[in-house]
Amino acid sequence: MEYTTLSNNLEMPMVGFGVFQVTDKDECKQSVLSAIRTGYRLIDTAAVYGNEDAVGDAVREAIAEGICTREELFITSKLWVQDMANYDASYSGIEASLEKSGLEYFDLYLLHQAMGDYFSAWRAMEDAYEQGKLKAIGVSNFYAHVLANFCETVKVKPMVNQVELHPYFAQPAALKTMKQYNVQPEAWAPLGGGRHKPFEDEMLTGIANAHGKSIAQVILRWNLQRGVTVIPKSVKQARIEENFDVWDFTLSGEEMDKVNSLDLGYVSESVKHFNPEFVRGCLGVKIHD
Ligand code: NDP
Repeated sequence: MEYTTLSNNLEMPMVGFGVFQVTDKDECKQSVLSAIRTGYRLIDTAAVYGNEDAVGDAVREAIAEGICTREELFITSKLWVQDMANYDASYSGIEASLEKSGLEYFDLYLLHQAMGDYFSAWRAMEDAYEQGKLKAIGVSNFYAHVLANFCETVKVKPMVNQVELHPYFAQPAALKTMKQYNVQPEAWAPLGGGRHKPFEDEMLTGIANAHGKSIAQVILRWNLQRGVTVIPKSVKQARIEENFDVWDFTLSGEEMDKVNSLDLGYVSESVKHFNPEFVRGCLGVKIHD
C-alpha cells in the first residue's frame, strides 16, 4: 500500500474502499470486513449512504479480530446537504455521523456537495477539526472555480477534494487547480460507476493483457499514476481483492496517453451538478426529520 501525505501531514492510503449504494447493513458490514481483511485501510462512507453504523460495526469487529488497530484505519464520512443549512445544523450533523458510526473520530470528513451554506458548514468542520473529532477535513464535488474561491476564502484549506475521476471524465485541469492549493484529489466512481462500459473497451483490453492484469486494475493504476487516490466499490470478494492488487505493474507514458484519450469531458449521466433540477433534488433529500 502506498500513502500520500496530506497538507496537515496526515498519511492517507492511496487505495480505499467505497460503500455507496450498499444499503443492506449486513452486506455493508461484511464487505467492509472483507476489504479490511484484504488489506484496505481507507473506508469511504457518507451520512446520506445510511450505512455509517455498519461501517463502524465492521471497524470494531476488525479491531477485535486483531486484523488492525484503529490508528491504522482511515475512515471517511461526509456531511449531507440537509445539515449544511447553517453552522449549528452542520456541527450537529458532524456529531450525528460520529454517533451513528460509534467512532470517536473520523480520519477524514468531507462536505458532500458545494450546496447549501457551505461556508458556515465549513466553519463547523474547522471547529470539529481543531477539537480532534476530525483528523482531516475536505470537500467533495467542488469544481475548480468553486474550489479556488473556497481556498482563497477559508481559514483552514480543505485537505482533500473527492470528485468524479475516471478515464471518461479525467478532469486534468481540475487536478492542476487541486495541486496549486495542495488539495489531494480522490476519485469517486474510479471504475466509471457502472457506466461507460470500460470492461468492453478493446484498447483497455490490450493494455490489460500486456500486463497480465484486468481492465479494472489498469483504470485504477492510471488514476494512481496521476497522483489520485481511488476508492472502488464492490460487494464481491474476488473484485475486492482484484481492485487492491494494483501495485506490481506500471503503465508506460504511451499507455497513460491512450487511457487519457477516452476522456469525454463533462457528460455525467447520473450526477449533473450544472443542472438546477439536480441541485434542487439534492437539497430535497432528507436523511432525518
Ligand atoms: P465504482 O467506479 O467504484 O464502480 C462500482 C461498480 O463497479 C459496481 O457496480 C461494482 O459492482 C463494479 N465493480 C467493482 N469492481 C469491479 C471489477 N474489478 N470489475 C468489474 N466491475 C467492478 O463506482 P461507485 O459509484 O461505487 O464509486 C466508488 C465510491 O466512491 C463509492 O462507493 C462512494 O464511496 C464514493 N462516491 C462518492 C460520491 C460523492 O459524491 N462524493 C459519488 C459516488 C461515489 P459489484 O459491487 O457488483 O462488484
